[in-house]
Amino acid sequence: MPSKLSEGISPFYVMDVLERAKEIESLGESVIHFEVGEPDFPTPDVISNEAIKSIKEGDTKYTHSLGIPELREEISAHYKSNYGVNINPGSIVITMGSSPALYLSIISLIEPGEEVVITDPHYACYPQIIKIAGGVPKTFRIFEEEEFQIDIDRLKKVITPKTRAVLINSPANPTGVVLKPEVMKEIAELGVTVISDEIYHGLVYEGEARTIFEVTDIAFAVNGFSKFYSMTGWRLGYLIAPEAFIRPIQKLQQNLFISPNPFVQRAGVQALKKAKNDALRMVQLFDERRKTMIEGIKELGFNIESEPKGAFYVFVDASKINPNSYELAFDILEKAHVAVTPGIDFGVGGEGYLRFSYTTSTSNIKEGIGRLGEYINNKGITL
Ligand code: PMP
Repeated sequence: MPSKLSEGISPFYVMDVLERAKEIESLGESVIHFEVGEPDFPTPDVISNEAIKSIKEGDTKYTHSLGIPELREEISAHYKSNYGVNINPGSIVITMGSSPALYLSIISLIEPGEEVVITDPHYACYPQIIKIAGGVPKTFRIFEEEEFQIDIDRLKKVITPKTRAVLINSPANPTGVVLKPEVMKEIAELGVTVISDEIYHGLVYEGEARTIFEVTDIAFAVNGFSKFYSMTGWRLGYLIAPEAFIRPIQKLQQNLFISPNPFVQRAGVQALKKAKNDALRMVQLFDERRKTMIEGIKELGFNIESEPKGAFYVFVDASKINPNSYELAFDILEKAHVAVTPGIDFGVGGEGYLRFSYTTSTSNIKEGIGRLGEYINNKGITL
C-alpha cells in the first residue's frame, strides 16, 4: 500500500488540463495554451553552448555537494550588483531547480508538526512540499480588492507558537503581485523566519522586486534560472541560507541528491555573466504580451481590479460563468479549445478564478481571446 503521506498529496490539476489538451491536439485540432507556467522562448545560445562545451570537455562527474565555487561566487556578485546586498558565497547552495531549494529550506528549519505560513491563493506545490517535509501548512487569505498584497494583521492572526516560518513569493504565482517593500519589511519584523521565493525576480514590468536580504540578514531565499533565463528543463536553482544552516543542508543534499549537475552549473555561470541582455529581451516581449492579455481579458468583460506587475500570469475572477474553476477550465477546453489553469490549483482562495499564462505569442493570445469571446457569447452570458 502506498504511504498515507504519498496518498495525501494533492494532484496538480493543471496537468489534467494539459494532458486533455494534448489529446485534443493529437486529433489534429488546434489548442491555445494559456495554462503552462514556463517561458516558450529557447534558452539563450550563450548558455546552451557552454553546457555543450562542458560535456565535450568531460565535465560530467559529481561536483562539490554545495555546487561549484564559480557559480556560488557569481550568484553572490549578482545579489550585490542587483540589490546592493552582501551574500557570502559560503551561504549559497546550488540545487537542481528551485523546487529542491524550497524543500531543503523547510526540512532544515522545521520539526515535525511545526507550521509554515503561506498565502491563499499560493503556488500549488507549497502545501505539498511543507507536508512532505513533515510540516503543517497554515494559510491566510489575500484578496484581489487589496491588489493581492499581504495584510500584515491577517498574517499575524495565523501565527501560533508552532509557527516556524513564513513563506512568501514576490513576484507571485498565480497572482503576478509584486509585494510592496514596506510589506516585506513588516513581515521580516514579525520575528518569524522568512523564506522568500524569488524565482520570478527579473520578470517585473512595473515597480521593483526586492530581495528579502534588503530588509533582514536572517532569512532564506530560494531562486533559480528556470524563469528569467528560460531554463525550466535544465533544473538549476539555489538556496541562500543563514550560515549555521549550511552544513546541515549540505548533509541533506549529499544524502538526497549528491550534487547538482556539473555542465548545467557551468551554463549557469555563463547565464549570469553573459545572458542578461538576452533575458531582458524576453522580459520586453513578456511585457508586450502582458498588455495584450490584460486588454483582451478586459474586452471580454472580465473585471481585473489589480493588474499583475510581475511573473507571467493574469489571475481572473471567472465565477460569474461558473464558480467551479475545474469544471469551467474543462468546459472552456472542450468547447473553445483554450487551455487555462483552474484557480482551485492554488488553494480555496483561488476557487472561481482562472490563471492565464502569457507564455505564448501575441498572435496566439489574440486568437485565444477571440475563442473565449465566442465561448462567452454562446453561453449567452454578459460579464
Ligand atoms: N516557485 C514558484 C512560485 C514557481 O512558480 C515554480 C515553478 N512553477 C517554482 C518555484 C519551481 O521552479 P523550478 O523548480 O523550475 O526552479
